[in-house]
Amino acid sequence: MGTGTSQGVPMIACDCAVCTSADPRNRRTRSCIHVVMDGLHVQVDAAPEFRLQCLREKIEWMDFFILTHGHADHISGMDDLRRFCDLLGGAALTVYTTDDGMARVLAMFPYTISERPVNTGYAAFKLLQMPVALELPQGTIRSTLLPHGGINTLGLVFEEKSSGRRFAYYNDCKRIPREAVAMAKGADVVVLDGLRPEAHPTHMNIDEACAAAAEIGGVSTYLTHLTHRIDHAEWSAKLPAGVQLAYDGLRLKL
Ligand SMILES: [Zn+2]
Ligand SMILES: [Zn+2]
Ligand SMILES: [Zn+2]
Repeated sequence: MGTGTSQGVPMIACDCAVCTSADPRNRRTRSCIHVVMDGLHVQVDAAPEFRLQCLREKIEWMDFFILTHGHADHISGMDDLRRFCDLLGGAALTVYTTDDGMARVLAMFPYTISERPVNTGYAAFKLLQMPVALELPQGTIRSTLLPHGGINTLGLVFEEKSSGRRFAYYNDCKRIPREAVAMAKGADVVVLDGLRPEAHPTHMNIDEACAAAAEIGGVSTYLTHLTHRIDHAEWSAKLPAGVQLAYDGLRLKL
């Protein structure tokens, strides 16, 4: 749904070649994804553009929500989850997250903590700790913690029961710990934080992401959370085999 870094691309008041590019793949809203596993709809994060992303991608249902961490670019769109509470018949939407994620939701959206929406059209969340393995009739969602500066991000691996296909989403992290490499090993699709060419204290840069991709050995790897330092066409030609750049609106069928 979104593949941009926290500022988005184009960035406000920037006339660089990427921010002024005509290539639609260089227009990046803030990052979040929607995963469908045997008919189960799982939304991961809600960017500031979440409402517009839902309209663009025709996201019309979700069974539950996972917040990877409480940073503004992942949590800001959560008030717009209100519409999905309506669609659930006026029930609270289940939100799985970390301790830090829960604290942020409580601080930013205190009015949502309720068994059901206060009025029709309001948001209500049931906050739950994301388990290490969420076992569902449609498959399993495994989680692990990824270091992201002063906090940890939830790294997620989806495994669909009917097909056995695996999808790993490791965004917003400085490195991929050994347990996380093992959990995603050989997945059909791996999505990694690949911010920009230059090093960053809390995100992997392109080289670090490519090294992590090689270690994980997924069938195909996509880089996301991209800044305006990355021109889609230019960098697509430079990346190692099996590693590609994600772009807004990208749909992958595993
Ligand atoms: Zn982010
Ligand atoms: Zn720019
Ligand atoms: Zn972050």
